Amino acid sequence: MVISKIQIVENILSANDRIAEENLEYLNARNILAVNIMASPGAGKTSVILQTIRLLSPDIRIAVIEGDTAPVTIDSDKVSHLGIPVTQINTGGNCHLDAMMVRKGLQHLELDHTDLVIIENIGNLICPASFKLGTHISLVIASVPEGDDKPYKYPGIYRGIDCLILNKIDLLPYIDFNQDYFRKGIKVLNPGIPIFPISCKTLEGFDAWTGWLHTKMPGK
Ligand code: MG
Ligand code: ZN
Repeated sequence: MVISKIQIVENILSANDRIAEENLEYLNARNILAVNIMASPGAGKTSVILQTIRLLSPDIRIAVIEGDTAPVTIDSDKVSHLGIPVTQINTGGNCHLDAMMVRKGLQHLELDHTDLVIIENIGNLICPASFKLGTHISLVIASVPEGDDKPYKYPGIYRGIDCLILNKIDLLPYIDFNQDYFRKGIKVLNPGIPIFPISCKTLEGFDAWTGWLHTKMPGK
C-alpha cells in the first residue's frame, strides 16, 4: 500500500491538533488565557507584545513564549527586562511553532500565578496558520509597510484568526496603503473580526486593543 504525501501531512496535522487540545485543557485548568501572535518578519510582534505588557501588567499577570528560528535571545531579553517570565523555543530553522513545542514552553514556565500567556510565533505568513497551538485567541499583526494586498496574497492565515492588528499606522501619511482595500480583503476571508489599527511609536490604538483583550480574560 502506498501512503500518499497528503495522507502523511494529514496525520501530522491531526497529531498536532490532539496535542493542541491538551494544551488548551492545561490552560483552562489554570484559568489562563493564551494568545498566538502570527505575522511576517518585521511586522512588530515583539514591540506590540512589549507595549501590551506595559499596559496590562501587573493587573494581568503575563508570561511569554518566544518562538525563534535561531538561538538568539534578542526578543526574549526585551521581555525579560520588563520582569516578565519568558521562555524561548528555538525551532532550529523551522518556520513555525507547533503544539508540542508550546507544550514544552508551558511546562517550562512557572504558571501558578499567570493570567495570560502570549506566544510569539515565527515570522511567517504561511504555515503557522496550519498548526494549532492550543490557544484561545490567534491573531495576525499586519503592518502598513508590508502593503495593503497581504490578505489577497496570504488568505490562509487570515481565515482562522480571532482579531487583526494593523501596526505602524504612524507611517500611513508616507506609504500608499489603502485601508478600505485592506479591510475589504479581510472582510471576505473572515467577516466581522475586530481590526485594531495601532502604532507602537505614538501608542495610538493600544487602548482599544488591550481593552478588547481584557474582556477575553476569564474572571476579569
Ligand atoms: Mg520578534
Ligand atoms: Zn513552517
